[in-house]
Amino acid sequence: MMTTWTPSSWREKPVLQVPAYPDPAALAEAERQLATFPPLVFAGEARELKSRLAAVARGEAFLLQGGDCAESFAEHGADHIRDFFRVFLQMAVVLTHGASKPVVKVGRVAGQFAKPRSADTETIEGVELPSYRGDIINAIEFTEAARVPDPDRMLQAYRQSAATLNLLRAFSMGGYAELTRIHEWTMGFMKGSNWNVRFEEVARKIDDAITFMSALGLNPDNTPALKQTSLYTSHEALLLGYEEALTRRDSISNNWYATSGHMLWIGDRTRQPDGAHVEYFAGIHNPIGIKCGPSLANDDLLRLLDRLNPTDEAGRITLISRFGADKVHEHLPRLVETVQKAGRTVVWCCDPMHGNTIKASTGYKTRPFDRVLTEVRNFFEVHREMGTYAGGVHIEMTGDDVTECVGGLSAVTETTLSDRYNTYCDPRLNASQALELAFLVAEEVHS
Ligand code: PEP
Ligand code: MN
Repeated sequence: MMTTWTPSSWREKPVLQVPAYPDPAALAEAERQLATFPPLVFAGEARELKSRLAAVARGEAFLLQGGDCAESFAEHGADHIRDFFRVFLQMAVVLTHGASKPVVKVGRVAGQFAKPRSADTETIEGVELPSYRGDIINAIEFTEAARVPDPDRMLQAYRQSAATLNLLRAFSMGGYAELTRIHEWTMGFMKGSNWNVRFEEVARKIDDAITFMSALGLNPDNTPALKQTSLYTSHEALLLGYEEALTRRDSISNNWYATSGHMLWIGDRTRQPDGAHVEYFAGIHNPIGIKCGPSLANDDLLRLLDRLNPTDEAGRITLISRFGADKVHEHLPRLVETVQKAGRTVVWCCDPMHGNTIKASTGYKTRPFDRVLTEVRNFFEVHREMGTYAGGVHIEMTGDDVTECVGGLSAVTETTLSDRYNTYCDPRLNASQALELAFLVAEEVHS
């Protein structure tokens, strides 16, 4: 018999990737406090994002989702957030211009702290310690004490998310995102780079269009689409105690919403149809993503769609495929066919990062830019062949000038990886590689 859903009914199900908190009373106290805090996002905003994603599902808009693999407590300056925001805006402009369609912008930001791990422990030079699970759980330093899960980190993650969101809202609404200021978005270290020269060409065309509009008597200052933008937030809802505490009933619809972010996704490691994570997601009304790796069986995908979207509501489900460049042709067609045959509505989105991680000869985890691009191209090719709409991309990126992924015109090499390898988890595209990818994706959307 099915039990009724509540924000805590996931606790009755088998759960993976749970931290071993040493003090259950301290955990309960942190969760109790969180449950008294204000929501970070509002149900109405999540509904608005869902309707924009429904437009993506219909082929009328394109989804751009991206940000850090893991946000960290250390990297929480205004500059880091601003630099992410502006390269994300640049990418969105390139895609809007290339696709002639609205771009729905969803950051992996303001809540992307918990990380699933392939192994519970890691061993360095003969010393074995619990794995780092993200700043919301434990600390990255390789010491016994740092790796003990600390529930108070949830409170710190909540406060950091609130501050990040506050700044992003100010940037989006308060003039920074005005299209008339498009030339100011270019970062110092990118000036003169090839992609920036191309970006300036796009920016000039947009200037011309605005000048033309003004000449016709339309006032850009009274045109909201030119004055402000919407950036939604998203993260992997891995740490269910944290999510439960921020799950609230919306006073308008009376439905339950996760208020930790607008869109949440289920990771590739925690999407078991009978597991705790799927149970939690079944009851919240936010738009949700499901990561689809090579091990996702067709039957399981159908079970997930039945469970998570029984009424086939458009915009509810985004399938984020992440197979690896050379496995897209093997796996994506069978999933597309499964969804088509069942007559289900989804957004198809490509994560070209997580299936393309390799170890460089220098020992660093990296992702070759050409493999990332090949996964994207294969994704578009399969959708073209099958008559479905390739709706978006999901990438790990930063606005900083890091050296974590090799290749691209920025020419990060295996030997320069060590220069600015700053990630807390997976390697991210730097600002120049991210903009380069946006131009190449725009060509795919157009063709
Ligand atoms: C991630 O998005 O950082 C992640 C862990 O992805 P996946 O669940 O697809 O491995
Ligand atoms: Mn990652």
